[in-house]
Amino acid sequence: MNAPVTTAGLLIVGGGPAAHHAAIAYREHGGPGPVLLVSDDDTPPYFRPPLSKELLRGGTDGPDLLLPGRTGAEVRTGRRVESLSVADRLARLDDGGTVAFRQCLLATGSAAAALPVPGADTALYLRTLADARTLDERIGYAGSAIVVGSGFIGCEAAASLARRGLRVTVCSDERVPQAARLGDAVGDRLAGWLAEEGVTLRGGAEVTGIGTTASGRVVQLRDAEPELADVVLVAAGATPRAGLAADAGIAVRSGRVVVDERMRSSAPGVFAAGDVALAYNAAAGRHLAVEHWGEAEAMGTVAGTTAAGGDARWDSPPGFWTVIGDRTLKYTAWGDGFDEVALESHDGGGFTAWYRSGGVVCGVATHLADGDHERGTELVRRGATSTGRPDGR
Ligand SMILES: Cc1cc2nc3c(=O)[nH]c(=O)nc-3n(C[C@H](O)[C@H](O)[C@H](O)COP(=O)(O)OP(=O)(O)OC[C@H]3O[C@@H](n4cnc5c(N)ncnc54)[C@H](O)[C@@H]3O)c2cc1C
Repeated sequence: MNAPVTTAGLLIVGGGPAAHHAAIAYREHGGPGPVLLVSDDDTPPYFRPPLSKELLRGGTDGPDLLLPGRTGAEVRTGRRVESLSVADRLARLDDGGTVAFRQCLLATGSAAAALPVPGADTALYLRTLADARTLDERIGYAGSAIVVGSGFIGCEAAASLARRGLRVTVCSDERVPQAARLGDAVGDRLAGWLAEEGVTLRGGAEVTGIGTTASGRVVQLRDAEPELADVVLVAAGATPRAGLAADAGIAVRSGRVVVDERMRSSAPGVFAAGDVALAYNAAAGRHLAVEHWGEAEAMGTVAGTTAAGGDARWDSPPGFWTVIGDRTLKYTAWGDGFDEVALESHDGGGFTAWYRSGGVVCGVATHLADGDHERGTELVRRGATSTGRPDGR
């Protein structure tokens, strides 16, 4: 029997925010033909940010997590697109089915980065709802946890696990969380937040292996005593899933699909958006790699609008928020480096960090300073040289 062939005006590969918002925008702009969304996740598009926050603390799960809004798309979950032929406009699925598409959006996102040490495959990771549920189940029997990595997801998860009553240690090769991305001064604040949540931070600790002893899990550290716990979660960043595009001969740089400000890839009629894209930002005047929820939504909207024949481009400064315990850090930045940071403290523990590159404001991170967050976002967008502070910093 011949494998089934489906026809789609727009084939969307992926089931994250970029995919979901592209489908909505395509419909809203009158894109022709049926939209087919194929995701290898078991669940239709859902909110990922709560996985390390509310869900891990024992809160939100189920229908609350599903993304709202009507896409009008046929959604196929638990199905992977295995290969694409750009010339023939055909996609092959892992069930042997084929999709004949007019246009295609690659919104394949990222996978949790594997830690390149022995035993890393025995640890838990946190990218999908299924990962979060597995972790939730394991901590039900655990008294202690080690989180490897002090990125946003590592810090959020550590604080959430501590709130569940676990003894939590974060092992990170950075001295303080996020030092490379946000600088030492903000990193010190984040370290303080973790300490107040009861989390022990072992900074400057390079993990060399993960194993099991008679009393539980063990994390080996270079030139230091190992850490022992019941559960090990690796939160070592994300790896964009650009293999499908690369295999199809679509231009990929730094592991991401290169697209213009309208999310058009090197292959006519093929778009990419979200974490997997290295997209040109019209306001920045350069390509940016971002792994933020809001940007995936924005890029997906641009891709869906463009595919439908509408006019849209990506020109907003990327923004991110993180919640550690009860504290929220808001961050807007082009995200490709800074050479100067000035930290301003506010009453009640709030602060604003201003980032500059070549004298131009390129980022702002705030806690309890929403006015600065909004003003800073605009200064970043404009490429301002002054923050307007009296001392000129
Ligand atoms: C635990 C956690 C917490 C986070 N918290 C925040 C936060 O607070 N703020 C923030 O800004 N960002 C946060 N992020 C990051 C944010 O979730 C991502 O930037 C965002 O999800 C990227 O969206 P996307 O649509 O590009 O890809 P993804 O959300 O990664 O979705 C990709 C989809 O593609 C599917 N897929 C991949 N390859 C194939 C294939 N070949 N065939 C079929 N389907 C495929 C996957 O199954 C998945 O459905 C968090 C991420 C995690 C994991």
